[in-house]
Amino acid sequence: MRELKDSYDVVVVGAGPGGSMASYATAKNGVKTLLIEKSQEIGEPVRCAEAIPSIEEFGIKPSPEFVRNIIKGGILFSPSGKKVVVTQGKAQGFVVERKIFDKYLAVRAGRAGAKIAVKSTVVGLERDGDYWNVIVEFLGEEYVIKTKIVIAADGVESNVAEYAGLKAKKKPLDICSCAEYEMTNVELFDKNMMEFYFGNDVAKGGYAWIFPKGETANVGLGVRDKKKKAIDYLEEFIENSLASDKLKNATPVEFKVGGAPVSGPIEKTYADGILVVGDAAGQISPLTGGGIYLAMDCGLMAGEVASKSIKSNNWSEDVLKEYERLWKEKHYEYLLNHLKYRKILEKLSDDELDALAEALGDNLDGIDLKKFVKRIITKKPSLLKYFKDLI
Ligand SMILES: Cc1cc2nc3c(=O)[nH]c(=O)nc-3n(C[C@H](O)[C@H](O)[C@H](O)COP(=O)(O)OP(=O)(O)OC[C@H]3O[C@@H](n4cnc5c(N)ncnc54)[C@H](O)[C@@H]3O)c2cc1C
Repeated sequence: MRELKDSYDVVVVGAGPGGSMASYATAKNGVKTLLIEKSQEIGEPVRCAEAIPSIEEFGIKPSPEFVRNIIKGGILFSPSGKKVVVTQGKAQGFVVERKIFDKYLAVRAGRAGAKIAVKSTVVGLERDGDYWNVIVEFLGEEYVIKTKIVIAADGVESNVAEYAGLKAKKKPLDICSCAEYEMTNVELFDKNMMEFYFGNDVAKGGYAWIFPKGETANVGLGVRDKKKKAIDYLEEFIENSLASDKLKNATPVEFKVGGAPVSGPIEKTYADGILVVGDAAGQISPLTGGGIYLAMDCGLMAGEVASKSIKSNNWSEDVLKEYERLWKEKHYEYLLNHLKYRKILEKLSDDELDALAEALGDNLDGIDLKKFVKRIITKKPSLLKYFKDLI
């Protein structure tokens, strides 16, 4: 592939939302960019429930080409079936067809001028003075590509940051194991609301979801459990749970498995000539496992900072650290808070989850932390021990 026979200012590894947004930003800024993806088709295989809170702020129109549904909020179900409806004013999100959405983002980067190599796997990085030699395998042949900056956007199984000496390896329980069927004939409470099911038997250390997608819905769950597999939880959720009635006529059209790294951001997301983005950097909510928006936003920031550093002819970590300052300013507190909430939720028994749902009431419009904790303290003082550190 001729793309692998050239040298570049920036090589981006991984054409997920993070990598494609980073490549779009560098290419748009006139920086010579190569985006490398190991799959033979960008967007495949899908490992996602495909819900995203916002895309317009990236200058992307919610086109019917990839938007399958508009989402107005969520319904949370406690283990005994107490419902809490969560909305954020008039805010809307989307369920997208990620196969198409991810490819759309890569095409956008390509149209901005990025070169793209598919079915190409980065297998190593070697420092060569101020440059990186990126070692890539394509159809059994090895290629060495010289570049000034590498952006590691290689997802949950990231190796690239480690190749560059950053600490990015995730331990097994840092990762929420997920299994999901995309199904048709799912009965929904509301075709524009996502459904979330909690309970230690439903999904230990995580939750189950039903995200409506139009003619289909993503029915899945994520767990953190050494003893029982996500797929076994999922079969039980379908056969024997609060949701079973609504799933009795449902049948799958796709099966997806994957991991979500839910232990918060990695220690350091930059070094000389390298930036780490998206799931690879732990930029994903430890509570919900939502990472598409964060990967896109942080990818864009990484692309902008990389472009500036190329233009100033200095891609040392002193310049690249601006990326970490920017993404932390916008997202760090949110990620740390979500990590705290997750740690609290996974301590609660099913009775306590029911009590929490009672305390929250039927409707939550926006989740203001102070209001939320105050409600819990007044309505269910027995839960105070878990939530008092949040005040
Ligand atoms: C079951 C499940 C459901 C989820 N549901 C949602 C949801 O509803 N909403 C949401 O916001 N988030 C969801 N997530 C999380 C979301 O999928 C990720 O946070 C998001 O995809 C992160 O984007 P990324 O660009 O960082 O990484 P990815 O999308 O994982 O992209 C990384 C890319 O790098 C490629 N790659 C890896 N290694 C190499 C290599 N060595 N060389 C070349 N290419 C490489 C991979 O093939 C992949 O294409 C879910 C995750 C799972 C597992």
